[in-house]
Formats: sequence, C-alpha cells, structure tokens
Amino acid sequence: MLYDFRSFVNPGAYAFGKGTFNHLGELVERRHENSDSWTVFIVDDYFKGKSLIERLPKKDNDLLIWIDTVDEPKTTLVNQYRDEILAHNTKLPSVIVGIGGGTTMDYAKSVGLMVTNPGDSAEYQGLDLIKNKGIYTICIPTISGTGAEVSMTAVLSGPEKKLGIKCDYTIPNEIIFDPELLATVPDEQRFYTGMDCYIHNIESLSGTWVSTLGQVFAEKSVELCREVFLDSNLSRIDADEKLMAASLTGGNSITYSQVGVCHALSYGLSHVLGVHHGVGNCVAFNQLEEYYPEGYKEFKKMQEVQGVAIPTGITANCTEEQFDQMVETAWALEHMWDNAFGKEWRNHITKAKIKELFRRM
Ligand code: NAD
Ligand code: ZN
Repeated sequence: MLYDFRSFVNPGAYAFGKGTFNHLGELVERRHENSDSWTVFIVDDYFKGKSLIERLPKKDNDLLIWIDTVDEPKTTLVNQYRDEILAHNTKLPSVIVGIGGGTTMDYAKSVGLMVTNPGDSAEYQGLDLIKNKGIYTICIPTISGTGAEVSMTAVLSGPEKKLGIKCDYTIPNEIIFDPELLATVPDEQRFYTGMDCYIHNIESLSGTWVSTLGQVFAEKSVELCREVFLDSNLSRIDADEKLMAASLTGGNSITYSQVGVCHALSYGLSHVLGVHHGVGNCVAFNQLEEYYPEGYKEFKKMQEVQGVAIPTGITANCTEEQFDQMVETAWALEHMWDNAFGKEWRNHITKAKIKELFRRM
C-alpha cells in the first residue's frame, strides 16, 4: 500500500431515478445565498440544440461552457475555463453543474477546484496537492461507467503526464442519476464506457489492495454489469438504470481499492496516441487473459452479446519512441502495479513485457 490510512470521502448527496433531472433547479437554488448568486453549467457539446438544454434552470447571469469531448480533459483547457469563470463576474459562482460523461464531469470537478486554487492545474496533478476546497459541484452523468461521478479523482492530461488531481475536495458534492439521460448514447460507446466499469471491478477484486468494502461494492457492480450486458430481455431504460448503479458502485469500489494492469496500459495508449479511456481499456483488456483469465472470458462474452468490435492494430504503425513513451507512462503508475501484484511488483512485470503487450494491441 502506498498509504496506510485514509478516511475516504464520498459525495454528500445523491438523487437517483427516472425524472430526477427535473429537480436540478431546486438543488441549485438551495445553494444560492443571494439574489446575485450565479451558476456555471459545464455541458457536453453533444447536447447543443437538444431538448435537454431547454430544461436547464439557467438564469441571465449564469455561464454555460460547452465541452468538446474529442480529446480527454487537458490541464490547459481547465485553466482556460477557470479564467473564463473568473472574468464572468467579480463574485465567485455558488454552484458548478457538470452534465455529460467522464470527460465533462472531470472538467467540472477540476474547474471547480481551480477557481479557488491559484496557478496552473498541471501543478496539482497528484495526491493531496490542492489547498482550498472548491465550488459546490453537482455532477449529472449522461453516459455511465467511469464512476467519475463518485470518485475522488479528476483525470487530466498535462504537458508531462496523464494523472488525476486527487484529494478530499475533488469529490462532487451532489449527483443526479437520471437514467432517461442515457437514452441517446450509441451502443458502441455505451459498451466501451460500460466496460470501464466492469474492468474497474475486475481489477479491484483481483488486486492486493482490495478491502472487504471495496469487494462488496465491486461484486454488486459486476452482478449489475452482467444483467446489463448479458441479459437481452432487459428494456433499455431498465438496463440504463442498472448501469448507473453499476457505475456508482464500481466507482466506490475503486475508492476502497485501486485499478490495475489494464488501466496502467490504457493510460499509456491515451497519453501517447490519444485513445479514449473506455476504448483503450477494451483494447488493453483484450490482451490480458493471462492476468485476468475469468474476467477476460466474461468480457469476451459481453462483447459477443453486444456485437461490438474491439479495435485492433492501433499500435501497428507506432515508432519505437512511441512504444517507449507508452511503456514509461504505464510504468510510472506505481499504485496500479502495486495493487495488481503487491509491493514486489517489479518482480512480476518488466518494461519489456509491457512493450510486448503494447505491440499486440
Ligand atoms: P466521454 O465523456 O468522453 O463521452 C463519450 C462520448 O459519448 C462523447 O462523444 C459524448 O459526447 C457522448 N455522449 C455522452 N452522453 C451522451 C448521451 N446522453 N447521448 C449521446 N452521446 C453522449 O466518455 P466517458 O467514457 O464517460 O469518459 C471518459 C473520461 O472519463 C476519460 O477522460 C477518463 O480519463 C475519465 N475517467 C475518469 C474517472 C475518474 O475517476 N474521474 C474514472 C474513469 C474514467
Ligand atoms: Zn477507468
């Protein structure tokens, strides 16, 4: 274990169920102390021109920031959005609302912190580097699986590394889980992000850091993933409600354990080749039968039932330098290797082996 004791923070309040999004206005109002209190809405730009925007409780003095999800969150854009917020009003906002997937929620979480912590967000990538608590943040997932809505991390790509801002304040204050918001997610993307959740659980359950609490959350989450991705009799809305619960419990599981080999490799793919997290996890997990034999078998079954193809050959044209960069990115994630193999993890995996795994992808 890299740290021996920690009292983990969980989100303060959840609203769960169909139609809960309709109550966003009430939740925002509760946090407004004065008539000039205002809100920042950070929204996935998929929703531009969609009916969800008309349902936003947005007032004249509020600010709406659109998130382009082509790239995963970058420290440079976090800084830019923070500056936009500070320029919008001399008073700080009372609430930040993040509406979207892991990308948008991680922007909401990190921007909410950077409004009250000076400097470049890249300086805060790491554990417990944030000094001041951020703006009250409400996260509203519109695609489920990452667990970003309940996690203590906001994962960012900086000039040097892909690493989360992780501390007690990174946790969202409140979450609205409304499965109706997931209705438009395309099947392929739903599978990739859903497998992020499944893999969180497999890595948590087979890791050396797992505690009874982490295990309980992961076991329930795996059970829900099986219902969602293997039971074809579920209606889409029922499956989406279960997927939201799976994401929540899977995310909680990671809080009380850690991810492993697949995530370390996926971070390498993402940092060097820009591969998105869910896809990267699937591409990596597709080569990890020797480390996660049972999980691998079930993953392949889910893939078959869902009829989704996992990309192959994505490293076929990589240069030796790119392979080395991917290996170094993955190798630096000590906590993941430590969880996967224990303190003596260097006896179980080598840079040569990691490179060979990347070559197969
Ligand atoms: P995402 O947020 O990037 O969204 C994926 C795609 O789905 C986008 O094109 C988006 O526009 C679209 N989309 C979202 N909601 C939709 C809807 N309702 N209808 C139609 N399309 C919709 O994907 P993701 O997999 O949720 O998040 C990935 C990110 O999450 C990565 O940046 C990863 O690093 C991060 N992550 C964070 C944590 C954490 O603990 N903070 C954990 C895992 C992953
Ligand atoms: Zn993940």
